[in-house]
Amino acid sequence: MWRSLLSNISFFRPFRKSLFLRIALMVTTFTGALIMVVYFVVYLSFTEQDTILDTHEFYYYSKMVESWGMPPDTTKILKDLLNLKMIGGVYKGGEKIWSHPKDFSNQNYQEFSDSKYLGELYNISIPLYVTFGDLDNYPAARVENDGYTYYLAIDFESPSEIMLRIVPASILTVFFMIILFLFIRRYLYPIKLMKKRVLALEQGDLNSKVPIRGEDELADLSKTINKLIDDIKSLLTKKQELLADVSHELRSPLARMQLLIEMMPPHKNTTRLRQEVNFLERIISNLLLSDKLSVPYKTLNLKEVYLPDFIDKIIARIPQSSSEVKVLGDIPDIHICVDETKMRLAFQNLVDNALKYGHSDKPVELSCARRNKAIIFSVHDFGPGISEENVKKLTEPFYRVPSDRQKEGFGLGLSITKKIVEAHGGKLIIHSVPGEGSTFIVEIPIRKK
Ligand code: ADP
Repeated sequence: MWRSLLSNISFFRPFRKSLFLRIALMVTTFTGALIMVVYFVVYLSFTEQDTILDTHEFYYYSKMVESWGMPPDTTKILKDLLNLKMIGGVYKGGEKIWSHPKDFSNQNYQEFSDSKYLGELYNISIPLYVTFGDLDNYPAARVENDGYTYYLAIDFESPSEIMLRIVPASILTVFFMIILFLFIRRYLYPIKLMKKRVLALEQGDLNSKVPIRGEDELADLSKTINKLIDDIKSLLTKKQELLADVSHELRSPLARMQLLIEMMPPHKNTTRLRQEVNFLERIISNLLLSDKLSVPYKTLNLKEVYLPDFIDKIIARIPQSSSEVKVLGDIPDIHICVDETKMRLAFQNLVDNALKYGHSDKPVELSCARRNKAIIFSVHDFGPGISEENVKKLTEPFYRVPSDRQKEGFGLGLSITKKIVEAHGGKLIIHSVPGEGSTFIVEIPIRKK
């Protein structure tokens, strides 16, 4: 559930698709966590471990202030302050009575620990009440002795613990994480190469190989992919050879039969016999073509074709074309770049189907129009139509609508048409309303050779 929720947030979508982005995110998160840990370790080590030393310091400060006497001996104070590289001031009843330098002020003193608490914690007796804190960001102390208050501050700004420890530790962490990421990326690079190779295979490249890097598991996997592709290639070659052989073996007797029919004296069944032989011949051609058009070894023999001639040739092939087929509108007066033989077969399949399955007293309507950078052909019949459920399956090889199975056919025509159209970068769209008729639309981009 979380997965699907996260993947719906558009920020996470690229991460789902890229292993490298996921690793980068992991490394960044890990770096952030590590910096936090470093921060807390440093911070805690500063506060907890040093408290006993602080308690000792409270003691030394008390002893030093006690040594200044009562009333305080300012000459001695100055001597100690100069020696310890400190500045400070003596106050009584809230009034400054002496200071070094003259403009010393206790105004911004912020205390954060005191001798009473720590002395009790470690059971150390500290003669005077001392607190530690900050005076304008300088480490400072305040000591109470018999109505006098002493403020003492170190005379230089110490670098903060953040600058001193956390920043260098963070920079080092980020640096190591970047190096770690670069290494992971380098180690996983073969995955990118394999992906590229598989995509190329999809486009029909059966020859190139995944470059092998190193000797690890990914190198083994790359070798396996190379071997698989070799196997696919040899299987495909064998299949093609087998199909070519079989079709050759089948065609020769068919050709002889055709010849014999032509030489036979006229007989009432001659036409029927000729039709059956032609039908067998068409099945063999369709089977061969269907195999050839299957990805990944689609090849097109593209040529410039004059569109009105192209449509004329398709119509001329239909025996009673004038009464059964009607061309609507004008055919655009342009050249298109297609594999003429294959594209003609695609259209013939559509027109033949409309005549065969979409039979009605109205003629089949053909139209051809230009829309932006595409040519839209449509074949519309007023036959019984096809149910929605069957429309989805029509382009699957060998699928035939059950009610039409007694009619002559092999269920390959539409699947071949679709493959041809898609090989040209176009699409086949089928609309059908049961009881009213069907429309087969072919949309192909107009391209230059
Ligand atoms: P076939 O060789 O059987 O004609 P197709 O792939 O060309 O193979 O057609 C598949 C099935 O689609 C046909 O068997 C038929 O049932 C149905 N079909 C095709 N065109 C039409 C149409 N114009 N009207 C009704 N049904 C059709």
